[in-house]
Amino acid sequence: MKPLLTFSEFLFESTKPTGTSVSCDYYSTKPPVPGKENFWANFEKMDGPARVEALKKIEAEITNSIRRVQKDLTNWYQDPQTRKKLNGTIEPISDEDLRAGKYPKEKVRRYIVNEILPNLKYLMVTKRQTDTPVPGAWGWYSSERPTTIVINLFNFWDGTNDGNKNLYDTLKHEATHLIDDAFGRFGLEPYNPTHSRDETPEEYDSRYVVGDKDSFARLNVFRGAIGARPLDDGAELLKKFMAEVAAGRITSKRVRFEQGTDSKGRPVLIMRPVTFTLNNTDIVGKEGGRNDAGPADRVLNLITKPGSLVVQGQENPNIKQLFSAYSSIGNGVITVRMYDLGQYNKTTAAIGNDNSTAAMSA
Ligand SMILES: [Zn+2]
Repeated sequence: MKPLLTFSEFLFESTKPTGTSVSCDYYSTKPPVPGKENFWANFEKMDGPARVEALKKIEAEITNSIRRVQKDLTNWYQDPQTRKKLNGTIEPISDEDLRAGKYPKEKVRRYIVNEILPNLKYLMVTKRQTDTPVPGAWGWYSSERPTTIVINLFNFWDGTNDGNKNLYDTLKHEATHLIDDAFGRFGLEPYNPTHSRDETPEEYDSRYVVGDKDSFARLNVFRGAIGARPLDDGAELLKKFMAEVAAGRITSKRVRFEQGTDSKGRPVLIMRPVTFTLNNTDIVGKEGGRNDAGPADRVLNLITKPGSLVVQGQENPNIKQLFSAYSSIGNGVITVRMYDLGQYNKTTAAIGNDNSTAAMSA
């Protein structure tokens, strides 16, 4: 993949998509990394050669990360389990059947593997301007440019990529939006939608924590973090998550992660507060509330603070937000409905073709 612009061209580039399908990956609060606040101010003062050198280093890191994203997502979409989810069979699909329209999702799968992922490009925006779209985002995309990820470097990069923002996750999140968009262009959905694909910016914002597009993007980050497989159910996801906790790769200073079951025996993840308490009046969760951002926002508010959920040494807002959308509060703990998350994992790019009825329970 190549950057869209040369160094001198992208320095102060700002782009203006006209489509409405712009999405992003951001944290509700974005404190600068201590000691790194002046990176861009200093950057602006560098002379030409020093600045080009600095950008080369940044570009090398982005290139490495985007290659990993390409590889991981290509593997996922070539996985026999994914093919089974999409087509209902792992048998190779013949061109004849494809032309006859028997396997509509196979067309999208090939399009993603052959056209979207190999041609991923990125655009680095280094300076916030008055007309910068989604200025608060770390990254975003526009459906007008089906293979381009835009990175708002001015928000994101602190000069070392060891801060509290994960470049790889952001690139993967945005790449997943491009995949989601590809399904939409074929008139298909990679998940069972809970609201219209075409949203106003206001609708998008109001349901940001529970919205379909971002839940799908976050799910893919979560899958990668625990090594999930395309057909894993809730029990399997929980087992893999707890294995990462046991290995010390997923940590929290604010909650203790515990494996549990709900009253119906279904697998749940318990997040037991360590540095704060929840009383009985904090029972706000309700099942099936994915379009009601209220409870999800309250949970997120509790676990968004630094140290709440750290993967390989970095805050992981994608998983915090995903868990929040599937959580309830009660009995002094936060309970993540892994059985719902497992159902979501198993049915995204759902089994069956045009008339998929594999319903999500959330
Ligand atoms: Zn997003």
